[in-house]
Amino acid sequence: MASVQIREVQKYFGSTQVIRGVSISIQDGEFAVLVGPSGCGKSTLLRMLAGLEEITQGEILIGEKVVNNVQPKERDIAMVFQNYALYPHMTVYDNMAFSLMLAKSDKAVIKQRVDKASEVLGLGALLQRYPRQLSGGQRQRVAMGRAIVRDPQVFLFDEPLSNLDAKLRVQMRAEIKALHQRLGTTSVYVTHDQIEAMTMADQIVVMHDGVVEQHGKPLHIYDHPANLFVAGFIGSPAMNFIPGTLRRHPAGANVEFADGSSLPAPQSAHGAGADGQKVIYGVRPEHLSIGEPDTGLKSIVVVVEPTGANTEVYSSFCGVDMISIFRERHDFTAGDILHLLPDPQRTHLFDEQSGKVLVQA
Ligand code: ADP
Repeated sequence: MASVQIREVQKYFGSTQVIRGVSISIQDGEFAVLVGPSGCGKSTLLRMLAGLEEITQGEILIGEKVVNNVQPKERDIAMVFQNYALYPHMTVYDNMAFSLMLAKSDKAVIKQRVDKASEVLGLGALLQRYPRQLSGGQRQRVAMGRAIVRDPQVFLFDEPLSNLDAKLRVQMRAEIKALHQRLGTTSVYVTHDQIEAMTMADQIVVMHDGVVEQHGKPLHIYDHPANLFVAGFIGSPAMNFIPGTLRRHPAGANVEFADGSSLPAPQSAHGAGADGQKVIYGVRPEHLSIGEPDTGLKSIVVVVEPTGANTEVYSSFCGVDMISIFRERHDFTAGDILHLLPDPQRTHLFDEQSGKVLVQA
């Protein structure tokens, strides 16, 4: 096992810059998830870590060693891809053993490694089967087995679950997490799925347009997004954003909305921002409750979706589409007026222009 350091890395394809000075520090044994929308550069970064793509500028270290000029096979990493492409004419055992056979490892060592990996992955009974005789989840497990037998310093995962159906994806992400807890191997996992990032990561790295927007523990990022991009990207359904104007007064500040109503500025933003500043007030769907008339955000119900566990209500406030989630059941109908009351401890305030969060200095 080893730590991974990415230091001020840049990447150009021709004259197009796709990675714009990224630094990430991944501890030995940590499970780090690079997450961001398609095209933000996460696969390119992972491929540079694997040695499949040249680093234009900056340094990548695995353990203590700068690996910029180290061949992929010398980096002691193992990669699991989205298209795991098992060899169809080889058994599960041979698929897992293949890289060790190529490396001319000792037969006894190969058997011991494959046996151990198949035990960890619950593949023991399937070793003599061919890929076509396996379910999608079992094939994915064999692909992980191929990585595990190499006993690498670092696992790299490139959207390994995107080809699986929704139910299997949920199951496999729990399996990968459990596997990481057992093996403790440093892992870097790329996904566009923020739920995967939230549920699997020790550290989330949120990327956008070739830069790191924020990194940290999943719940910290969820509770304290650094900017509008992160606030809108992490969390599903997404945070509600309402434009407003900051109104300072001797005892604190309010945010005034387009309909003239106002709410106290978040406590976290106490003292931040200037009177008259254009801001975006953020509140997550689950941090809204229903208030008395003349309180909160007066909104008009558009659609109500009972999911069984929750009631999700789409409404409109000052022309902004809002979504709220309630644990209890409600039978609102379209056109009803709701007074949505944000939990004042859990609201967020962003500068409209820069998108940066406004927090107490
Ligand atoms: P992500 O994995 O976040 O979806 P990628 O790392 O695959 O994003 O791509 C980042 C950007 O780099 C995209 O705009 C993509 O079009 C571009 N890109 C990726 N590979 C190449 C390449 N070989 N040549 C030119 N542009 C590329």
